[in-house]
Amino acid sequence: KKELLKELKDKENITIDGQRIDLFANIGSTGDLASVIQNDAGGIGLFRSEFLYLEKDHYPTEEEQFKAYKMVAENMAGKKVIIRTLDIGADKQVDYFNLEREENPAMGYRAIRICLDRTEIFKTQLRALLRASAYGNLAVMYPMIISLEEVLEVKKIVEEVKRELDAEKLPYKNIEQGIMIETPGAALISDILAQEVDFFSIGTNDLTQYTLAIDRQNTKLEKHYDPHHPAILRFIKMIADNAHQAGIWVGICGELAADSSLTETFLKMKIDELSVSPSYIYPLRKKIRETDVSKL
Ligand code: PEP
Ligand code: MG
Repeated sequence: KKELLKELKDKENITIDGQRIDLFANIGSTGDLASVIQNDAGGIGLFRSEFLYLEKDHYPTEEEQFKAYKMVAENMAGKKVIIRTLDIGADKQVDYFNLEREENPAMGYRAIRICLDRTEIFKTQLRALLRASAYGNLAVMYPMIISLEEVLEVKKIVEEVKRELDAEKLPYKNIEQGIMIETPGAALISDILAQEVDFFSIGTNDLTQYTLAIDRQNTKLEKHYDPHHPAILRFIKMIADNAHQAGIWVGICGELAADSSLTETFLKMKIDELSVSPSYIYPLRKKIRETDVSKL
């Protein structure tokens, strides 16, 4: 493992025939940063911001969030950091949100649905995130999007927040805005959604759950939870084609991104980025550098 590290550090993720792909890292808290840097990630493809909410007994303030996002942006020293906005719901309970118990939390009140209802919570996060963008290379993505209307509503709120920051003379960058494609509905209208965003990140964990109707947390169903199901692979191909047709890039940030038995498939689909747990970066880099896509 050490050998692999020495041999592949600072090397590009490029196939024998010259196709490049970004290898980014998924993180669940700022504590994972050391491992991101140690494993030579090209960026952070999924910063699960939930931890900021889960670790506290109150809504994290703008200042608390700003500090965390700024710290990550600065530590990544110009490399891209994609922060996913709050993806909390009835399955990830946070007391102070006072969410009602639900029969079917996976299909319930969560993520962007909460953010678009409780816009004060959403705006606080967006303000913190935009302010932190002045200190590095941040991007933002929105979870559980299912419609064009949601995307337009989110973008409107982002514009409002920018006007506020302008008025307060607080600096920010016009960062990339992407969406997670993690429901069959979003996948099927990804040609339309692609017109309104800068990138897609495919969340195969939820996409598998919703496409196959298999609760990802139900251990009894483990043997049926199959992200290799042809329906999932067809969806990934469709999403990638729709993204590229619209001139935007597409990544995969679900667990499937790290599955080396599919790396060749993803390269053939011209996936632009894979975001994985930091420890998978070197093995995937090795795999990519040994692949000749023209011979597949
Ligand atoms: C996904 O659904 O694939 C994903 C990356 O998001 P999470 O696992 O946090 O739901
Ligand atoms: Mg998800």
